[in-house]
Amino acid sequence: MLDSVNDPSLIQAAQEAGAKGINLVGMCCSGLETLSRHGIPHAGNFMSTESIMVTGAVDVQCIKQGLAKVADCYGTKLFTTNSRCHIEGVEHVEFNEHSPRECTDAIVENAIIRFKNRKMPIEIPQIKNMGVHGFSHEYINYMLGGSFRSSYTPLNDNIINGRIRGVAGVVGCTNPRVKQDWVHVELVKELIKNDVLVVQTGCSQIAIAKAGLHTPEAAHLAGPGLKEVCEAVGMPPVLGCGACVDNSRILTACSEMIRIGGLGESIAELPVAGAAPEWMSEKAICIGQYFVASGVYTVFGVTFPIVEETKFHKLLFEGLEGMGFGKWGFTSDPYEMAKMMIAHIDKKRKALGIDKARERVLVSMADRREMEAA
Ligand code: SF4
Repeated sequence: MLDSVNDPSLIQAAQEAGAKGINLVGMCCSGLETLSRHGIPHAGNFMSTESIMVTGAVDVQCIKQGLAKVADCYGTKLFTTNSRCHIEGVEHVEFNEHSPRECTDAIVENAIIRFKNRKMPIEIPQIKNMGVHGFSHEYINYMLGGSFRSSYTPLNDNIINGRIRGVAGVVGCTNPRVKQDWVHVELVKELIKNDVLVVQTGCSQIAIAKAGLHTPEAAHLAGPGLKEVCEAVGMPPVLGCGACVDNSRILTACSEMIRIGGLGESIAELPVAGAAPEWMSEKAICIGQYFVASGVYTVFGVTFPIVEETKFHKLLFEGLEGMGFGKWGFTSDPYEMAKMMIAHIDKKRKALGIDKARERVLVSMADRREMEAA
């Protein structure tokens, strides 16, 4: 799509149709891929798909079946592109990875035709939220140590000295059963207020971006320790890592924290926790279990799809931890969720013996000589 919207012949066709140019915006996690890697503006998460559909052509990932009807009402073209995905009443332009431009050019050409045929005034809300996004594992390395000393050491040091209490991954879908974006925003505010650095992926990241928490200025909402670190590095207290498939970036960061040292021998020992507070897609459950199996305490919200008090429930919520894995947790209340995650982080800090804040001691040359002599 990026190649197609930048193709001079298609830009010219758009201009001949009376447009200023071609505007590509992202939606859901596909949009986060392009935001993280290419800086393409993002139009909204899963819960915003219908509102955005009524304004013009968009790229949507998790598609509600009902979108075909909404698109029809507003004269917006909706396409499916994956061979496994067809929706009744929606045009299919198949994406072939060996000749992708056949599909993407056709979609852009359709958008140009649609522009020419617009009969009703288009109303696009002019609300923009700026933020810093695209925190890959490599970029976090660079951010903390520059290109000369790129390393997770400053992060580990600040966790050990207590400025950063721990790290929480807040990820996943937005869910129509709860007030839009509310659970994500309240949970993340509670966590950063308690000096927990938050990393994010998925539609959750857009909920938080809309609340303005992906800016370095949001450090004023963080607790004193986290605020100090954010101000020193110039980073936001909430780091956006990308789409829901980029959760692997979070586990790579956890592995790196272990490799650097000082925080245990496995991910299960780290003072970290994860949450998908408004999950709704089946793949969220798979990703959650991937985190639990990797050693992370993972809390889900809204509903949990198994019966309480069964053997299986006990295994997921208690048994797995005893076997050296993470474990599952559940609550639909964001404040309770924050409490559960912070309690787990504190439990891990205690087990590591770093539960009391330690001030960094600057060692002078004279002190050093004395230590060596001793
Ligand atoms: S976070 Fe959930 S709703 Fe959003 S794109 Fe990913 S799977 Fe879909």
